[in-house]
Amino acid sequence: QTPSGTAPVIAANGSALQGVTSKPSKMTHPSQFTFEKELGSGSWSTVMEATHVATGKPYAVKILSKAQLIKLKKVKYATAEKDALVKLSGTHPGIVRMHAAFQDDTSLYFVLDLAPHGDLADLVKKHGSLSLRCARWYTAQIVDAVLWVHRMGMVHRDLKPENMLLDSELRIKLTDFGSVYVSPDGDLSPRASTFVGSAAYVSPELLNRASKTTSSSSDIWAIGCSTYFMIAGTPAFAAINDYQSFRKIEALDYTFPEGFYDIAKDFVQKLVVLDPADRLGVEPKSSPSELRGHQLFTGLAYSTTPEESDGTPV
Ligand code: ATP
Repeated sequence: QTPSGTAPVIAANGSALQGVTSKPSKMTHPSQFTFEKELGSGSWSTVMEATHVATGKPYAVKILSKAQLIKLKKVKYATAEKDALVKLSGTHPGIVRMHAAFQDDTSLYFVLDLAPHGDLADLVKKHGSLSLRCARWYTAQIVDAVLWVHRMGMVHRDLKPENMLLDSELRIKLTDFGSVYVSPDGDLSPRASTFVGSAAYVSPELLNRASKTTSSSSDIWAIGCSTYFMIAGTPAFAAINDYQSFRKIEALDYTFPEGFYDIAKDFVQKLVVLDPADRLGVEPKSSPSELRGHQLFTGLAYSTTPEESDGTPV
C-alpha cells in the first residue's frame, strides 16, 4: 500500500516510469536484484550496489523513498532526474546510463551503470590532491560531458566532484541529475531560479537575492571549482558552514595554495568569475570551443561529440 495521501502523486510519476525499462533484461521490480553494499546516500535517496539476478550483471541502484520525497517536497526533483536520465542515457560516454526505472509501494528505483571506483571527491581525498596530468585528464572529460548536457538543452546545476563518478577505466561519468534544469526550447540563457546545488560549488548568481538567475554558465563556474579542488585538495570556497561559503563566493574570496600549477590557475581564474557572462566558454563573449581550446588541454585530443570518439582524452 502507498502511504496515505501519496497515491495520486506517485501514481502519476509511476506511470511516467513505464517504458523506461530497457530490453531484453526487463528490469521491473527490486526482487529481481540482490542488494549488496551501500555506495552512498543523500537526503532522500540511497545508492546500493546490486546484482541483476537473471543476468548476473552488477549495477548501482538509486533508491528514492516516496515518503521522504513527499515529506521534503522533492517529488518534482525525482521526476526531473528520471526525465533527464531518460533523455541523456546512452548519448554520451561521460554521462551515467540509466538502464531501467521502476517503483514499488515504498520507493522509486533507478538502475544505473555501476561506477566501481566511486567518485572524484573520494579519489582526491584518498590521494590528498591530483597531479596536473590527472587533473587535466579529468577536467577535459568533465568539460566534454557538461558541454554535451548543455547541447541537449539542460543545465546540471549540481556539479561537484561527488557527482563525478569513475568507471572501470577511471573515466568520468556525470551523475545526480536531481537538480537539472531542462529548457523547453533548448535556450539556456539566464532565467529566474531558486537555489539548488551544493554550497561550496554554487555560483554567485544563484546567491544574489535580487537576480537569482541560472544558466549554463553556472555549470562552467562549478567546473572551475572542481578543477581547483582536484589540485588544491580542498574546495576553493570551503568554510565552517554554508553561510560562510556563500559570503566567500559572493566576494570571490579564495586563494591558490603554493605550488598550484600556473596553467591550471589560469583555467580556474577564467571560469571562476563573478559575472556569468564573462566566464570562458560562455557565449557570446566566449564559446565552447574556446573553453576546449584552453592551454590546460594542449596535447590532449578529446571528442567534440560522442559520434566522433568515445569522449576519452588520448
Ligand atoms: P546528494 O544529496 O549528495 O545530491 P543523492 O541522494 O542525489 O546525493 P547521488 O549523488 O546520486 O545521490 O549518489 C550519492 C553517492 O552515491 C555518490 O556521491 C556516489 O559516491 C555514490 N553513487 C551514486 N551513483 C553511483 C553509481 N552509479 N556507481 C557507484 N557509486 C554511485
